[in-house]
Amino acid sequence: SKPTIAIVGRPNVGKSTLFNRIVGGRLAIVEDKPGVTRDRLYGNGTWLTHEFHVIDTGGIELSDEPLLQQMRAQAEIAVDESDVILFIVDGKTGLTDADEAVAQLLRRSSKPVVLGVNKLDHYKQRNQMYEFYSLGLGDPYAISCAHGQGIGDLLDAAVSKF
Ligand code: GDP
Ligand code: MG
Repeated sequence: SKPTIAIVGRPNVGKSTLFNRIVGGRLAIVEDKPGVTRDRLYGNGTWLTHEFHVIDTGGIELSDEPLLQQMRAQAEIAVDESDVILFIVDGKTGLTDADEAVAQLLRRSSKPVVLGVNKLDHYKQRNQMYEFYSLGLGDPYAISCAHGQGIGDLLDAAVSKF
């Protein structure tokens, strides 16, 4: 069956914007799963010759737990259910404690991770991606999901890890 890419990251970094760019109109029809909102959560993507499922883990509803607990739970679901993880951070805001907590969890898993630094809408903002090397997840990719920039390189890296 098709491999799965999961999109992980704290709220408001642009996960849903990226998900929509990747799946376009190709939303998947999925079965009910407890604790999971079906709408706009699972989709089908294609890149080059690759076909894959995409999960926007930000759409997974997790009661009233504190943010960090929710993010940990979403990251664990991503690790369990995907073949490659797209970890998205906000290059405008910069590195946060929550990013570091999720990175620690992802580093401990054996799943390949591709790090996307979003909201770098202008070329001169690219240097804001370098601080994210400290997450220990390899080379960051500068992206702008709003403008559709850098997504091709990000997906090249992701599908190369299938
Ligand atoms: P999510 O909570 O991680 O799913 O984030 P969303 O996709 O809902 O985006 C959160 C906010 O960031 C929205 O207002 C988006 O329009 C904005 N956003 C997403 N991608 C970009 C980007 O590349 N550049 C900028 N400047 N804003 C973005
Ligand atoms: Mg979202």
